[in-house]
Amino acid sequence: MIELRTPTQIEEMRPAGRFVASVIDALIAKADVGVNLLELDALAHEMIRAEGAESCYIDYHPSFGASPFGKVLCTSVNDAVLHGLPHDYVLADGDLLSVDFAVSVDGWVADSAASKVVGTPREEDLQLIEITERALAAAIEAAQPGGRLGDISYAIGTVARSAGLGVNLQFGGHGVGRTMHGDPHVPNDGRPGRGFELKPGLVIAIEPWFMHTTDEIYTDPDGWTLRSQDGSRGAHAEHTVAITADGPLVLTARD
Ligand code: MG
Repeated sequence: MIELRTPTQIEEMRPAGRFVASVIDALIAKADVGVNLLELDALAHEMIRAEGAESCYIDYHPSFGASPFGKVLCTSVNDAVLHGLPHDYVLADGDLLSVDFAVSVDGWVADSAASKVVGTPREEDLQLIEITERALAAAIEAAQPGGRLGDISYAIGTVARSAGLGVNLQFGGHGVGRTMHGDPHVPNDGRPGRGFELKPGLVIAIEPWFMHTTDEIYTDPDGWTLRSQDGSRGAHAEHTVAITADGPLVLTARD
């Protein structure tokens, strides 16, 4: 069921969005050559404690997960593209890292992700990140009241296709509210003018993620981390966006 939020409720969601943005900022700043993924998870955990927020991940155990997630952050490195379970790994020169983070603050969830190359980047990895961010920006621009959900999906797919990238439709965006994953599902490609009408009060996470040379993934033996089928690298960008009468409001916007 798709739930719409009142303007007052959307105001109440702002602290969660601001906090998630601050954690993503801190993680991107800390991520560097020589930093262990477990240190990033520990930083996020410490910030959650200081804020009095509640992790959406640590006890998360959906049908596709092998066991409760156990960490507060997703860290996906190189051919790991989504849902990366933080483990004892030290970031190396040129690694492409994506972090994905969702918490509840005062009973409202916000969800955001960002990608970064640590150390000396490969040009193609910077381009992949740029395309992913451009798809997110285009999708947000399409999240206008009176439009349709398909407009958002089409905006993402159009950027991907024009860059020669495939789109995986198994995992995409989702409704956000009292819990992390609600209706509607927001596929990363689709047809404009189709699907649910974008009404003021709809709050969704929009999250394009692309891989260099495949649109297929498999699950790592850890039961969580999703890797590209052909070993090519992936990038991910995500914001929680409220559709208001005045247009899209990015709750997890960073400076
Ligand atoms: Mg997320």
